[in-house]
Amino acid sequence: MLKSFQSIFKEEYQSIYQAPARINLIGEHIDYNGGKVLPAAISLYIKAWVRKNNTKNVRLYSSLNDHLYICPLTNIEYKEEQGWTNYPLGMIYTLQKHGYNINEGLDIYYTSNIPAGSGLSSSACLLDLTCFILSEEFNLNISKKDIAIFAKESENDFNNLSCGIMDQAAISLGKEKKAILIDTANFSYEYKDIKLNDGYTIVVMSTNKPRKLTESKYNERVKECNIGLKTLQKEYKINNLCELSSNDLPKIKELLDPLIYKRVKHVITENERVYRFIEEMKDGNVYNMGQILNESDESLRCDYEVTGLHLDTLTSVSRNHPACLGARMTGAGFGGCCIAIVKEKDIKDFTKVVKRKYYEVTKIKPSIMQVEIVDGVKKIA
Ligand code: ADP
Ligand code: MG
Repeated sequence: MLKSFQSIFKEEYQSIYQAPARINLIGEHIDYNGGKVLPAAISLYIKAWVRKNNTKNVRLYSSLNDHLYICPLTNIEYKEEQGWTNYPLGMIYTLQKHGYNINEGLDIYYTSNIPAGSGLSSSACLLDLTCFILSEEFNLNISKKDIAIFAKESENDFNNLSCGIMDQAAISLGKEKKAILIDTANFSYEYKDIKLNDGYTIVVMSTNKPRKLTESKYNERVKECNIGLKTLQKEYKINNLCELSSNDLPKIKELLDPLIYKRVKHVITENERVYRFIEEMKDGNVYNMGQILNESDESLRCDYEVTGLHLDTLTSVSRNHPACLGARMTGAGFGGCCIAIVKEKDIKDFTKVVKRKYYEVTKIKPSIMQVEIVDGVKKIA
């Protein structure tokens, strides 16, 4: 049973806000390589109940962890013992750094049905949500695009994760029934209809494997790509790896160390898969879309090496079901979630079979979710 806002803060809340989770349809691990990505916001949310508290402290509570944190608004620093509040505190710090005047305390109570740490980007959700709350409560007029930029900066610099802009952008800019095609080289974007013919739908599946070492592995991949870029810039006039094409691969192979070559190959081919996927999605051609998801997953497994037993089992048992046209990991990987294109009328059987087969191998029960594509961060009351 959840505690009430009143029982924690002794006063009633004034407003309610929500921000969604996200999936990425295609374009994985290329948002920090200047690539095109295609995420969408999904109907799992962090919600926040908020009031101004007339003090110089921010008071933060999450249903995820039954502890009230009280922090001064000045001299905010990252501290291990601040736990999850390093995300909202980092967001306040980042806005203050940009000159925004946040000089009055807030009470914020967060609840969530996004599985935290599962690759659906609960961290970016928490950051975008907090940024939006601060913008609304203090009339800062921060645009949805700038929310994404500030939230990314906060996750990069305060929380020390070298992520790209995709998650924060998907969660702030999300639109019902649309995917967002983001060019991460210049952060321009356009909305694309998610069209699926013949009664197919997108299913989200969590491996429910506790993730370990995700941040360090993620930062390692970012470094490997940077090594590849620096080496190739001696031969090519490029600003990022996604300016190269698969026609360049034979020459690139000669220039790079074999491990770095595999990482670069994933990046270049994945960016091209995004273009192909968009062409197929225009016509709702689910068969080819499914095939491209499989190719992306293969590349993430063999060349980028960010999957592992749990993701590989979940994608392969999904593909083996006749109702499934394709599956791939979504998000950072190393555990976390997959997406699959599945015939809607067969979802019950698909769910039953996938759960059983995944459990047989891993002894973990996966979660299988049918989600809607929804709007980004907003005030709801
Ligand atoms: P992901 O973004 O894929 O969900 P991360 O490891 O990047 O995984 O972020 C998960 C972290 O975000 C949690 O460990 C916690 O610190 C924070 N977090 C997510 N959801 C909540 C929540 N509802 N309440 C408090 N903290 C949360
Ligand atoms: Mg995250």
